[in-house]
Amino acid sequence: MIVAVTMNPSVDISYPLNRFKFDDVNRVESVSKTAGGKGLNVARVIAQMKEDVICTGVVGGTIGDYIVQQLDGRHIRNDFLRIESESRNCIAILHEGMQTEILESGPTLSEQEGIAFLEKFEGLITSASLVTISGSLPKGLPTHYYCKMIEISHKKGKRVIVDSSGESLKQVLMHEKKPFAIKPNTAEFSQLMGFEVEAEIIDLKRTLSHKIFEGIEWIVVSMGSKGAFVKHGTDYYQVTIPEIDVVNPVGSGDATVAGFSVALNRNQNVATVLKTAMTTGMLNTMEAGTGYINKNKFKQYFDFVKVEKI
Ligand code: ADP
Repeated sequence: MIVAVTMNPSVDISYPLNRFKFDDVNRVESVSKTAGGKGLNVARVIAQMKEDVICTGVVGGTIGDYIVQQLDGRHIRNDFLRIESESRNCIAILHEGMQTEILESGPTLSEQEGIAFLEKFEGLITSASLVTISGSLPKGLPTHYYCKMIEISHKKGKRVIVDSSGESLKQVLMHEKKPFAIKPNTAEFSQLMGFEVEAEIIDLKRTLSHKIFEGIEWIVVSMGSKGAFVKHGTDYYQVTIPEIDVVNPVGSGDATVAGFSVALNRNQNVATVLKTAMTTGMLNTMEAGTGYINKNKFKQYFDFVKVEKI
């Protein structure tokens, strides 16, 4: 079983408008509301790949109830810690070919809630084979909170894949206990290094040989339509993908983490792990919904992915 963690889930509301009128009333006909958050996307794709998954994290209030109902409705197992404050709404207004977003920062957790979640997490991962941690931390938790989750996972002998950015990712890399894998995209990777990382193989190789990555088994730098550049142990791989018709690329990194986790969980070889990760990423970009793939297209696209040891 894979445990997919989302510490700051949301209800994602989309308001399509022909024209967005400022300082006026905007009426919306077709509202769509979905349970959002990177780890929830990961879990949805894992479930579509027919692998056993459970979602966890923290939820609160009626928005939290909605998140749970949505997952239950899709038969995705979940076990969240209930918190005092309300989970957040994230609103996207789609107008005139643009997307204006209004993102609530979400609840602030108390210290006790932070401790309570770690206890829940420790219990949940006992029967897990793999853990994924995705997205940002809610307010109230220290930036090294993911390090504590990694420590617990080490104690229990579980592999952890971390897909976060900014300060929480930095803390994870600086910590003594390392995650099993990380999956930054190019922007997150550049932000982490503090300089614009070039897409040239020689530069990528040099950057990934930096000592902050020591002890991490897999570093998958996803590069959108360019595929990925990967360090596995002491080996480097360039992964290239075919040109495809993109419908909505949002969540493709999460779908990549999902495919990566599923293949690792099935003890697949390096090439299959990377090809699966790229394929689920691509399939997500080909659907309108975030965290959805058309599994019938899997084999066709999988065969087009090329993994080259550099
Ligand atoms: P993130 O969503 O985290 O920013 P990326 O944009 O790197 O991550 O996308 C993750 C993966 O999804 C890519 O490695 C690739 O497999 C697939 N993907 C994303 N964008 C495209 C695209 N425009 N064309 C083809 N595949 C894509």
